[in-house]
Amino acid sequence: MTTDKSKKHGLKAVPTLRSVEADSADIPVCDVCFGTGLEVVPGKGARRCVCRKRDVHVDQINKTQIPKRYEKCHFNTYNAGDNVSQKIALRVAQDFTVQFPAVDNGLLFSGTVGVGKTHLAVSILKGLTERGFACLFYEFGTLLKEIQGSYNPNTFTSELSVLAPVLNADVLVLDELGASKPTDWVRDTLHHIINSRYNEKKFTIFTTNYLDARASDRDETLEDRIGVRARSRVYEMCQTVVIDGEDHRRKLHRSTGLAKFRSPNS
Ligand code: ADP
Repeated sequence: MTTDKSKKHGLKAVPTLRSVEADSADIPVCDVCFGTGLEVVPGKGARRCVCRKRDVHVDQINKTQIPKRYEKCHFNTYNAGDNVSQKIALRVAQDFTVQFPAVDNGLLFSGTVGVGKTHLAVSILKGLTERGFACLFYEFGTLLKEIQGSYNPNTFTSELSVLAPVLNADVLVLDELGASKPTDWVRDTLHHIINSRYNEKKFTIFTTNYLDARASDRDETLEDRIGVRARSRVYEMCQTVVIDGEDHRRKLHRSTGLAKFRSPNS
């Protein structure tokens, strides 16, 4: 508890020995190394325990910044059913993951909402992270907000700490390309990111709900949203994978609805 006296002297509450003991009592102890981090191999010596390797992997996955709602997305949870475009997309995504870095291009997953574009992009990142590559996930709108938030009006610059990982990641996923309002600043920022990565031969995976063709006069194309320059670079950098099908979220919603209202006698 903070008292008036502690406020005056700038004191902070620190955990007591008892509370530290209580906290650590909640952490399960590894039954291979008993918390030492080393597994003793009889007759051979000691090696790093599997629990520590697991920790390193979890840490690397956390660094990719994959949103929590995509935690369960893996290739083996993607169900293409008999949808040909989804089967092709799954194959392309798996090949990319296995063959990387011996690949020629990044990928652009395009298609309507809920067909699994982000699911596949996330599955690739997880596979590559497991193989030891530095990967990063950003929803494009969130990235723009972070860059804006770090802008210093005195120096007219944004914090490099936001942009550097985006430019340097071995593989970057930029999700929801074209979803942000296409102002000049947004287009310039996107062009800078894409161009820098292109020049450094870094691979980028994009997802977008915008297509290249217009189904009606009212439709906007990806080029309308991100500008001619950026679209042209993305053509050069990426293989386009068009996915069609029903919105998976709506499909799930419908099936849970049916289950809910099914008669107990049926
Ligand atoms: P998109 O990026 O195309 O809008 P998402 O990848 O965000 O779609 O998919 C929306 C939700 O539906 C996610 O929870 C995702 O795991 C799930 N989903 C989409 N397509 C499939 C699929 N073919 N098999 C299994 N889950 C899917």
